[in-house]
Amino acid sequence: MSTLQIKQLTKSFGNDTILEQLDLKVNEGEFVSLLGPSGSGKSTIFHLIGGLYQPDNGTITIDGNDIVGKKGSISYMPQSPSLFPWRTVLENVILAQELFEKPDKQKAIEMLKRAGLEDYIDNFPAQLSGGMRQRVAFVRSILSPQSLICLDEPFSALDEFTRLDMQKWLLSIWEEERPSVLFVTHNIEEAIYLSDRILVLGARPASVIQEITIPFNRPRAESLTLTEDFLQIKKSIYQTLRGTGND
Ligand code: ADP
Ligand code: MG
Repeated sequence: MSTLQIKQLTKSFGNDTILEQLDLKVNEGEFVSLLGPSGSGKSTIFHLIGGLYQPDNGTITIDGNDIVGKKGSISYMPQSPSLFPWRTVLENVILAQELFEKPDKQKAIEMLKRAGLEDYIDNFPAQLSGGMRQRVAFVRSILSPQSLICLDEPFSALDEFTRLDMQKWLLSIWEEERPSVLFVTHNIEEAIYLSDRILVLGARPASVIQEITIPFNRPRAESLTLTEDFLQIKKSIYQTLRGTGND
């Protein structure tokens, strides 16, 4: 388990300030979504947490330890799943483990089965559909030894039905293991359905302009998305985003 804390994070590219004094916290075992329009700096935040970029200002800690500029502190699933084409499904999902410790193949096989991939364990990525590849990448993040998982719009390339299935599947896995998750999306419904808490990013330079604690119990039924309470939250977020001039 891990707690991520970001304080006063500022990042510019040239004269363009993308993030300004951004504060963000993910508590142990918490599922937090960052919601913001395209181009608002969501992936940039992940690159900063992942140590790929250096911030202009601010601190990033995991369990109190400074991780600015340090790679390997988080499990990161990028916007497009980067599986190694020459490795089988099983070899891909134990990759992160191999770097740190002896891989637990049995657990990997168990997770792949739960992901509906039992018939594809020894196949190569090119033989899978887009949704399957997403699941492989996701199983890999869950199995990696870091306890903070950062998911960058993992479902945005999927069609609506596949996405709903994947969301339900993600929740069922998450509820079992309860890792700390920072989830990035531009989809309001997806954020509400999945999260304990949502942070809404404003227009550039981005900072958190609204924070919503989601009151719904778990496990969550899909029908939740049609309830009055759900729609009220959706409306509130929508109005916040409209207010920034981004919709
Ligand atoms: P999001 O993930 O919310 O869609 P990004 O974080 O990818 O947004 O990008 C935010 C802004 O930062 C965009 O305008 C993008 O062009 C710019 N940006 C991101 N990375 C770089 C970079 N390495 N160099 C210059 N500009 C960048
Ligand atoms: Mg992005």
